[in-house]
Amino acid sequence: MSPKQVVAAADPYFPNNGDHRFHAHRYELTLDYRPGPNRLAGTARINAIAGVGAPLREFALDLADFRIGRVLVDGRAAHYTHRAGKLRIKPAKAPAAGAAFTVDVHWSGNPKPVRSPWGGLGWEELTDGALVASQPVGAPSWYPCNDRPSDKASYQISVTTPSAYSVVTGGRLLTRTTRASATTWVYDQPAPTASYLVGLSIGVYRPVPLTEPHGGGVPQTGYVPARLQPQFEHDFARQPQMMALFEELFGPYPFAEYTVVVADEELDVPVEAQGLATFGTNHVDGARRFERLVAHELAHQWFGNSVTISGWQHIWLNEGLAKYAEWLWSERSGGPSAHHKAEAAYRQVTAFPQDLRIGDPGRRLLFDDRVYERGGLTVHALRVALGDDAFFRMLRGWATLNRHSVVTTADFVAHVARSTDRPVGDLLTAWLDRPELPPFPVRTPPPPPAAPLRAAPATRFWLRRPSGS
Ligand SMILES: [Zn+2]
Repeated sequence: MSPKQVVAAADPYFPNNGDHRFHAHRYELTLDYRPGPNRLAGTARINAIAGVGAPLREFALDLADFRIGRVLVDGRAAHYTHRAGKLRIKPAKAPAAGAAFTVDVHWSGNPKPVRSPWGGLGWEELTDGALVASQPVGAPSWYPCNDRPSDKASYQISVTTPSAYSVVTGGRLLTRTTRASATTWVYDQPAPTASYLVGLSIGVYRPVPLTEPHGGGVPQTGYVPARLQPQFEHDFARQPQMMALFEELFGPYPFAEYTVVVADEELDVPVEAQGLATFGTNHVDGARRFERLVAHELAHQWFGNSVTISGWQHIWLNEGLAKYAEWLWSERSGGPSAHHKAEAAYRQVTAFPQDLRIGDPGRRLLFDDRVYERGGLTVHALRVALGDDAFFRMLRGWATLNRHSVVTTADFVAHVARSTDRPVGDLLTAWLDRPELPPFPVRTPPPPPAAPLRAAPATRFWLRRPSGS
């Protein structure tokens, strides 16, 4: 646990989510789900560490409206209250400052989305199955968690559900066991994962491998409604090439595998989760019309999932870099150049009011188009200012130095400053911290070549030594 995770203040956009008095580092979730009645029963074993300073007399988990069976801390029944999405727990014996402890919670009920300004978040019951799309604060709709993006943990998730359904999460499938008419799927995700990025899909899906089973590289699999398999195979055929490109540009893929689900439902937008992305049937048309979204979701595995923002005000770091990855894929796959894409985005952003600071857009405008488009433009402005060599070194360094870590916009600004000897502070301030749109980035002509050194007069002088010496 980095000190940053302990001392960070509550998220300014979602001050009620998460608890900084402790750090959860592993969740073991055992779930039983019946799709028909949409009934979920779960037990969670959470391994955690108390914050420094004082014994942990009280702490809170985020959990929506469920019936609580019991709550144990270090195996002993704890006193708790459960109100307004907060499970407040008073251990029988307070864990000492900095000490490891465990929490067990049993809960059950009918999961439903958490209400938000962007519609329902989290657990979504589908016509036949369910999916989870939690960004930014939907995770408590289905399991008890320390719901702040900076509190990353490893996960083991076991789901038992009728055998006709597939269960998909990001992570490695450890076992799949069928007893009577139910099947238990056990997945493990050892990489540090933010609660909003714990994904889950339950549905009638066909697995479609996108890579050779033993072909080397990152294993990639789709789970799709059988009728969409041909369209899916066409639309996602270039994903392995995207993976290769992004590994070249951003460094090694941060997880063991990558899974995409096409949920059997239309979705407004695809959503990223750890090692996983979920698309809607409307994003698959057999004509690759949505390929930019395939690139966008894959890029989030580096920007957002591995390198995670410590608070939601830094959202442009996720979306601006994923947007720019779309443009890089276009440029490197025979489509329009990133510069051309940036010009189009600039025209688009020009038409919007210039009243948003993307470096801190405010909770209501967290997912505003300008965060994405101007975010991509900010990255492009840096590329133009730094030049390709320094820019791509900077970008790869950002993803690899901060792999599986937690960052802020200030960290990014400092990283860029370290990556170049050109002054970029004013440029980043203009793009991130001011509402007015800066001029479109154009390459300044390189400085005229330095005049040839008035070549080594000393040498010549020395050569013109007096004859005879
Ligand atoms: Zn995105």
